[in-house]
Amino acid sequence: MKQLLKLTDENYFSLEADQQYMSVSQYKNFLKCESSALAQIQGKYTRPKSDALLFGSYVHSWLDGTIEKFKEENPELFSSKGATKGQLKATYQNANEMIKVLENDPFVMMALQGEKEVIMTGELFGSPWKIKMDVYNPQFGRFADLKTVKAIREKYWSDDIGYCSFVEAYGYITQMAVYSEIEKQNRGGDWLENFIVAVSKETPPDKAIITIDEESLAHELENIESKMERIIALKSGELEPKRCEKCEYCRRTKKITNVIHYLELIG
Ligand SMILES: [Zn+2]
Repeated sequence: MKQLLKLTDENYFSLEADQQYMSVSQYKNFLKCESSALAQIQGKYTRPKSDALLFGSYVHSWLDGTIEKFKEENPELFSSKGATKGQLKATYQNANEMIKVLENDPFVMMALQGEKEVIMTGELFGSPWKIKMDVYNPQFGRFADLKTVKAIREKYWSDDIGYCSFVEAYGYITQMAVYSEIEKQNRGGDWLENFIVAVSKETPPDKAIITIDEESLAHELENIESKMERIIALKSGELEPKRCEKCEYCRRTKKITNVIHYLELIG
């Protein structure tokens, strides 16, 4: 078997890394739309950078101590005209408020103590996987992930489960399950305690430290296992990907081949 790429901060998000390894975001992409996920891995399609992604990255740059560098590299964080020219845009002033809320909470700062942005790899359900933990603290028996979210206690919609929490809607159980298992493979022993440190975009920001129980993690790993055979076959080209016909990629590449009944539009 071919030697796998050794992952670093520089190549972690590269196409080569995504081709050789599964990641939680790649797995979620495959569940959303196989065609889009495959086109992204093959370098044929890049998803547009969303504002939410940039926002999350800004708050994460505070966590790993690179916020000044992040500001220099992303001039779009600053207003470019009018009376506020040169100032941080209102959205990012709000992000600073969220950061302040985290900094002022001793329990949060304790949960975020540890090594930052730790990369690990492992083998799971017939494929190599890569993970990147926001905060790794095996001495204290835990790892943590920082999440910015619209509202912590709001109901979110998921096509699979209906109304649920943001933790389920955004696939964070999947993330914590894979991270727990890959980390355990690297260290030996039992799963670490997992923390989702959440801060909301509301004024004033809400905050919570959330954990997922082992039974839910184990159940989620079984769920992932049941889907991996198809994903591995899709990645190797043995199976043809299905188009969802709804996502950005499918809309971009759509060719109409038949007429549909109006009841097909929803559901
Ligand atoms: Zn699609």
